[in-house]
Amino acid sequence: MTARTHDTFALALLTTAAVYYPPANLNIPTLFGVLVGSVVGSLIPDMDQGSNRLWDMLPAGNTVGKIFRRLFLGHRTISHSLLGFYLFFKFFEFVLPKFLNTTVINTNLVFASIMIGIASHLIADALTKDGIPLFFPLSIKVGIPPIKAFRVKTDTWVEHFLVLPAVVGYLIWIINANQEVLKKLLNNLYS
Ligand SMILES: [Zn+2]
Repeated sequence: MTARTHDTFALALLTTAAVYYPPANLNIPTLFGVLVGSVVGSLIPDMDQGSNRLWDMLPAGNTVGKIFRRLFLGHRTISHSLLGFYLFFKFFEFVLPKFLNTTVINTNLVFASIMIGIASHLIADALTKDGIPLFFPLSIKVGIPPIKAFRVKTDTWVEHFLVLPAVVGYLIWIINANQEVLKKLLNNLYS
């Protein structure tokens, strides 16, 4: 899937999580961190592609990207697996409290949103014809639905005019259906 579809998927999953598990208290810096975190998370598994949008945000990103691509053992391998998910989990669990100001930002929520972004990426890519190597280093590819013919080819009209609008439609629906919860969440927002 393309980066835009991944962003939208992440936002949809984040909103779903916020509706079912609304945080007891949320401040503005954390809300901002959560939104950024989910989008960054949704792009992380594709850092194995040197051309990934995340690399463009860093100075000398493309050179670093090339090195990282080697580390990731090629496209759609470890970064799209359960093992990769676990390693990302351990990495962010360790790094976030050291880099973010814990007195201002609730790092647990930012951490959760990054992992939600990564999970949404894996779900979205599982919908594609290629599937994902969920059990890497085993080479079995997993897809939703299991029959490849019913899955989506990346960057085609099916993705842009069926999948993306469906996710946007879901987002609008879940926001509409849970206005009370979301309103309460935003009303309780403090700086
Ligand atoms: Zn991917």
